[in-house]
This record gives sequence, structure tokens and C-alpha cells, in this order.
Amino acid sequence: MTIRDNLQITGSKINSFIQKYHRQPDSVQLLAVSKKHPASMIKEAYNSGQSAFGENYVQELADKAEQLSELDIEWHFIGPLQSNKTKTIAHIADWVHTIDRLKIAKRLSEQRPAELKPLSVCVQVNISGEASKSGVLPEQAISLCEQILPLPNLRLRGLMAIPAPEHNIHKQRATFAKLAQLKETINQQLNLQLDTLSMGMSDDMEAAIAEGATIVRIGTAIFGIREA
Ligand SMILES: *Cc1c(COP(=O)(O)O)cnc(C)c1O
Repeated sequence: MTIRDNLQITGSKINSFIQKYHRQPDSVQLLAVSKKHPASMIKEAYNSGQSAFGENYVQELADKAEQLSELDIEWHFIGPLQSNKTKTIAHIADWVHTIDRLKIAKRLSEQRPAELKPLSVCVQVNISGEASKSGVLPEQAISLCEQILPLPNLRLRGLMAIPAPEHNIHKQRATFAKLAQLKETINQQLNLQLDTLSMGMSDDMEAAIAEGATIVRIGTAIFGIREA
């Protein structure tokens, strides 16, 4: 199977779930998660029509963005972000999905070059309530969103979550439904129109699309198993 085949299969699956759950056509964006895979594979995916890529490690993203600078790639940063690395991300990324502290958001806004579009950001929510996971607790999400809104060079888009692994689709859906509900609550309470739910990976994409995902983050199903 080539990357082109995998992209085609993943795209057809997304479309079949869109139909099955009566979602709007084109309402789910495929983010190809390329972490730990070489730039050559990103190029292959790009030449097959994929233009949005997700990376988890700052230096790896910086290296790949430089190697692939001639391509019109939309880069999404989806890994944990420390404050000493925000400047690199502010210069390279189009999106950051993993905002869980105001300090990081402030630095990204301050360091975003004026000639670039505002950086699209999502607040990461610890939706399964796991002690070790990153993300704000659901009850803290509204206040973090409220504090991000005035930052001039960021554009708050919505919420992101990485739920605890779970095989039962009904349980997967119940967790994703909580994130979707939280976005609605935030939209109502802050009078916003946040449009993004970044949720769903290779193993829980169907449940995520059923519950309103607008970005699914897929790695393994496109690029294969990652080296440890
Ligand atoms: C690695 C990763 C993915 C992709 O996971 P797969 O199981 O390979 O599809 C999605 N989201 C995040 C945040 C990741 O770190």
C-alpha cells in the first residue's frame, strides 16, 4: 500500500462516516500526522493532494518545514509545547491544537510575526480526567478561552482532546460528546462561534465524526507504524 492508497482509503472512510452520521459534506478536515516519518513521505502525501500536516515535536517540525519550504503546507502543531519553544512555533505553524496555559498563548501571540495571519489555536481539554494527561480540566476551559480571546495575533478556533484509549465505540462517543457539549457551552456563555473540534485518531475516528469532529488527526492509517 502506498501513501496515496492510504490517503484515498482514509478519505473514503471519512466520507462514509459523514454520510452515516448525517454530517455536512466537507465538514471534516483530514490532518495527516507525520511525526517520526521523514519529509520524503510528507512530500509523497502532498503530491497525492494532502496539504495539512500535524507534527508533535518542535525541532522536527522546524527541520521538515525548512526541507519542504517550497510546498504550500498548512502546519499544525499537536504536541506538548514548552515556553522556550514558542518562538519557533509562532514563526512556522498555522495552527496549534495544544494550548493548555495562558502563558503559552501569550508568548505565541507576542512572537507571531506581524506579516503572518493570526495563529489558529485550540484549547486542549483533558476530557477523560486522567491525572497524567495534558490539557485543562473541562471546568477550566471557559476561563482559558476567555483569556485567549483578547490576544491580538491568535485566533481561537475551538477545542482539542486526546481521550484515554477505549475500544467500545459507545464509550468513545460518550467522551467525544462531552467535548462537543463543552464547545457549545463556551459558545453560548462567551457569545462565540468557535468552529473547531479537533478529535479522533486512527482508532476512534468513527466515534469522533459521529459526535461532530471537524478535524481528525490520523497518523498510522496514512503513514504506517512509527518507529519507537
Ligand atoms: C500521534 C498523534 C496522532 C495520530 O495518531 P495515530 O494513532 O497514529 O493516528 C493524533 N493526535 C495526536 C495528538 C498525536 O500525538
